Amino acid sequence: MDKQFDVIIVGAGPAGMTAGLYGARYGLSVAILDAMIYGGKMQKTYEIENYPGTGKTSGAALSQTMYEQTEAAGVTFLFDEIERIEDGEVKRLYGLSGEVYHGRAVILASGTRERLLGIPGEETYTGRGVSYCAVCDGMLFKNKKVVVIGGGNSALEEALYLANLASSLTIVIRRDQFRAQGSIVDKVLTHPNITVLYQKVPVEILGDGSRVNGIVLKDSTGENTMTLACDGVFPYIGADPVSGYFASLGICDKEGYLLCDEYMRTPLAGFYGAGDLRRKELRQVVTAVSDGALAATAAFHDLNK
Ligand code: NAP
Repeated sequence: MDKQFDVIIVGAGPAGMTAGLYGARYGLSVAILDAMIYGGKMQKTYEIENYPGTGKTSGAALSQTMYEQTEAAGVTFLFDEIERIEDGEVKRLYGLSGEVYHGRAVILASGTRERLLGIPGEETYTGRGVSYCAVCDGMLFKNKKVVVIGGGNSALEEALYLANLASSLTIVIRRDQFRAQGSIVDKVLTHPNITVLYQKVPVEILGDGSRVNGIVLKDSTGENTMTLACDGVFPYIGADPVSGYFASLGICDKEGYLLCDEYMRTPLAGFYGAGDLRRKELRQVVTAVSDGALAATAAFHDLNK
């Protein structure tokens, strides 16, 4: 198979897929590389209700529609994890599979990866009561006691989903206020099955050796601790950019977020960015698709100079 393309996109989330769709419609040969199923974080989101045009929909359904539209436009989807990128007139992307992909332009859209709590018990009980994906694992917690850690949009959206399955749901946040948008905070605060514990941080996840049976929480402002019995813990405490594989290119800030101008050009010619991976204010599906369209457009213009 020919592994040379005009544009190679890393990441098949909404940003990457939209860049692919626009690139293909400009008549470019485009490949999208991802080590996971298309959709990125959107694929794991239970409900999306702020993406205009679709009404309330599921992340899986929106992922599927975007995938079908992008593939029908002629984009090649390839499964691989990129380990390293070398710059040049033609850029070389080295895959974990051993394959090397050649692109005249590269759009980086690899998004972010969930942050871990880094406390005792977390690793031991991952997959045995600790989960980072409510949509994937929620049914395992039907009629069980569930704790969600975090007060951002992700934590609250997934808590609302889990609260309809669980016998009780507790949200633990470390400050006295949420980070999430007001509309979703209102839904949480009025949900009959959700309790919020403010100013607490998790310090240990407990279990019986095979499954989670509790969590130890400490006051954010002091040393007092309490133990909460539970069957499941879902940490949603933010995410870090997936940019290590191109760190040597020197186009990220000190936290690893990709730097782009308003046209999605990075400081390095031939490289563009899109989606959550970028240093930006608002990380949403709607901003990701906008980035993707702009990145493909900039790549098209630059390739035709
Ligand atoms: P986030 O907005 O960064 O929120 C992370 C939450 O976890 C905050 O409440 C934070 O507390 C807490 N936290 C961080 N480290 C912690 C620790 N070690 N222990 C306990 N709590 C900790 O992350 P996110 O919810 O994953 O969202 C990421 C981005 O995606 C955001 O820009 C978000 O708006 C966007 N997003 C949007 C939607 C939507 O619009 N529908 C849905 C999902 C995600 P502090 O507040 O005290 O820092």
